Amino acid sequence: MSKNTESRQIITVLQLYPKDMNIYGDHGNLLVLQRRLEWYGYQPHIIHYNVGDVFPASADIIVGGGGQDSGQEIIHADLVKIGPKLKALAEAGTPMLMVCGLYQLFGNFFKTSKNKVLEGIGILDVETYGTSERLIGNIVTHNQEFGDIIGYENHSGQTFLGPDATPFADVVKGAGNNSKDNHEGARYKNVIGTYLHGSILPKNPLVADFLIQTAVTKKYGEFSTDIIDDMLASIARDNAADRPR
Ligand code: GLN
Repeated sequence: MSKNTESRQIITVLQLYPKDMNIYGDHGNLLVLQRRLEWYGYQPHIIHYNVGDVFPASADIIVGGGGQDSGQEIIHADLVKIGPKLKALAEAGTPMLMVCGLYQLFGNFFKTSKNKVLEGIGILDVETYGTSERLIGNIVTHNQEFGDIIGYENHSGQTFLGPDATPFADVVKGAGNNSKDNHEGARYKNVIGTYLHGSILPKNPLVADFLIQTAVTKKYGEFSTDIIDDMLASIARDNAADRPR
């Protein structure tokens, strides 16, 4: 697929609220998508969307990171405003990866540990309750499609799935959605919500390729079959998986 840049097929990656929702290395998810798109021979077009910006006419992949309760409060009104556009894109099968704070706000609501209720945009059928207990540490989960998924979690919110959401993974080591049901994250169509920071994609390239392959196939009908050498990623995975909680 290695064509010269002019003729490369463009994939637009939209990053939501990088100014306010971007902690524990979450920006790395965008960098991985950018690099892997180039390695597969596509032209990444990156859009950073912050509070008050004009929402883009189209986006092929959408990513968003985590943030403290204060950051979630800063972006909340704007997110609710663009919510219907994001919901339409999700229904149309646009691949999305939302980490922690944005995962919570893609749900039905987040009730902070100070009892402030932040209405969610309702793409994921989940609800989150902030508690005084923070769930912190290295985490390993398992997903049928992607195998073991390795990352880091740090959240006060405990998330519970409703009937229209499926867990993204089962917890092998760590807490995940809450300290009760051994589930981590949520999935609806091609939208993935997860508590895994780190960032998640450098150590879990199969999840990155799912987002890329879904976007390319949806836009251009077929996906490049180039093989990427992920030896470094697998060494990083093994090291991270062995880290103590
Ligand atoms: N502020 C939210 C919580 O504490 C999300 C934290 C995060 O994004 N790491 O649960």
